[in-house]
Amino acid sequence: MRIEFDKQIERLKNSYGANAYSSNRIELFWEWLNLLAAKDFESAVSKLIASERQPPMLNQFVELVLPKLQVSKKLQEEASAIGRKECAVCDSKGFVFKTMMSKKLQRNYEYIFRCECEWGKKYTAWPLLSDVTAYQGKDSL
Ligand SMILES: [Zn+2]
Repeated sequence: MRIEFDKQIERLKNSYGANAYSSNRIELFWEWLNLLAAKDFESAVSKLIASERQPPMLNQFVELVLPKLQVSKKLQEEASAIGRKECAVCDSKGFVFKTMMSKKLQRNYEYIFRCECEWGKKYTAWPLLSDVTAYQGKDSL
């Protein structure tokens, strides 16, 4: 629920400063994390606040909560109603992780890309899987 979500965003802002989370960024988080139960998001936020010196970004949340992220029954029903086919590339999740070298972090890091299939259309905030090579080696990563 949005109220619960905003409460957690407040906790993050209190720990990392309001400037770390622009309203644009928060909306992108919401697009992704609204699939989560409030308590799962809360526990992810607690873990990250306890362990991260820098403001945690979406990839870090998703790494923590991925096992809990499920395509809801409603979404699945909608999908079969419009004849979406199962996708072997993304396992019908709509997104895939790619490990790439992060220049900022100086280590390999899992980045999220949306799949080219019908399932991926929900995640417009993510770069397309076909753009992976364009992202590799970017200084901003
Ligand atoms: Zn796919």
